[in-house]
Amino acid sequence: MKKAYLVGAGPGDPGLLTLKGRAVLEQADCVLYDNLANPALLALVKPGAECIYVGKKKSHHPKSQEEICSLLVERARQGLCVVRLKGGDPYLFGRGGEEAEALAQAGVPFEVVPGVTSPSGLSAYAGVPLTHREHTSAVTFVTGHAVEAIDWAKVGHAETLVVLMGLTNIRQIAARLISHGKNPKTPAMAVRWASRPFQQTIVGVLEDIADRTEAAQMKPPATFVIGEVVKLRDQLNWYERLPLFGQRIVVTRARNQATQLSEKLALYGAEVVEFPVIEIAPPDDPSPLDTAIQRLSQYDWLIFTSVNGVQYFLDRLDRSNLDLRQIKGKICAIGPATRRALEQLHLKVDLMPEQYVAESLVEAFQGQQLAGKRVLLPRAKVARDVVPVALRQQGAEVDVVEAYQTVLPTVDPKTINEIFERKPDWITFTSSSTVKNFLSLVESERFKSVRLASIGPVTSETARQLGLRITVEAAEHTMDGLVEAILKFVS
Ligand code: SAH
Repeated sequence: MKKAYLVGAGPGDPGLLTLKGRAVLEQADCVLYDNLANPALLALVKPGAECIYVGKKKSHHPKSQEEICSLLVERARQGLCVVRLKGGDPYLFGRGGEEAEALAQAGVPFEVVPGVTSPSGLSAYAGVPLTHREHTSAVTFVTGHAVEAIDWAKVGHAETLVVLMGLTNIRQIAARLISHGKNPKTPAMAVRWASRPFQQTIVGVLEDIADRTEAAQMKPPATFVIGEVVKLRDQLNWYERLPLFGQRIVVTRARNQATQLSEKLALYGAEVVEFPVIEIAPPDDPSPLDTAIQRLSQYDWLIFTSVNGVQYFLDRLDRSNLDLRQIKGKICAIGPATRRALEQLHLKVDLMPEQYVAESLVEAFQGQQLAGKRVLLPRAKVARDVVPVALRQQGAEVDVVEAYQTVLPTVDPKTINEIFERKPDWITFTSSSTVKNFLSLVESERFKSVRLASIGPVTSETARQLGLRITVEAAEHTMDGLVEAILKFVS
């Protein structure tokens, strides 16, 4: 029999999962998760593993605690490595204790991997240390779920009081604390979805925090901190001050290419929604590329205009009887990302234009003697003809071959509804095809007032022709440039 693991998923930021938690998730055959564990973590689970949502959002057929326990035991008995992924830490108010007991009683071997509990997460991400030598030397964690079960006279003496599951009862809780002598002016705060980019924080004092959370219609999961430490937030609130905090940004790049842009935006505090509107695929007919590869040693120049171009060229090269030693000519890369892809192959780039667009590439070639030279341009099926036309005018013999194509993925309408459930602040376009495909998937009415960010003039022009108004255009036509343009706008 394999094992069961109770794993703490941390408060929400997927980066707060422990290394051990990650290793265990990667091995899992079956994962039972709930709505406090960030579903982004399921990306770590190996393909084919079973992922079961066990609640507790009412609309999703939640499982009862007994059902969860028996599912855990049953899957482990089937010889599977089963992971119970729980928000925060499994042993702090998460009924993890009960689940471990069920495993122990069933004789199923288990391990527990702690997680960053939500009070720790919120203290870091809302700028409120739970202890501080000048303000408090004791912390109490309490559940606000059953008000009657708690001796509030005792708990009220805590210098820092952290109340989990207390949103619906906070008015009663505050009243009890005050009636037992706690100063009504004690600083108090509620944090919802701590450490996620849509973290919501409401600050007040003990006597008005219920009014404030009600007025804001705050919903669970939220945790309260009551105590002098809440004041430290004015100085220590780094997360909500990140420049893109509160901005919901749609990334439309192909899934395998989105990471760089997504990670950068997230580092600046943005809530990133990946919605790949293009898929990269090999050409329908690879034979022109194969023919070019057979003549590789005859080319004086190889020009790569995208990372995809490099990758798909290599893919066909690998399938041939030849290798990189056939390259005798010089190499040109359109921009830094393409250059990096080539340098990873230990190939040196001889030419890179100043601006990362076709026109600038043509300019860069102006000083080169091209008459009679053979040039290979492996690129996307649909691309502009600026480069081949100009180089031919300079006397070069240019072979343009299709190395890959971009295709429109099939998208479930539910996915689109989820994206627009809360209106995005930005949509990012990194090529003309992302614009065209986005428009063929989403009606323009739906994103009328959303800001649009474009990587460069060609993409912007495509957008304009399709009736869209671009808000910002990257000065440097790279992912970093795109992020810069958004940063500049919001500041
Ligand atoms: N085991 C969990 C707690 C589960 S009890 C942990 O260690 O964090 C559920 C309560 O946790 C919620 O009602 C809320 O008070 C708190 N909680 C969980 N995740 C939270 C988050 N991201 N932000 C604020 N509170 C959270």
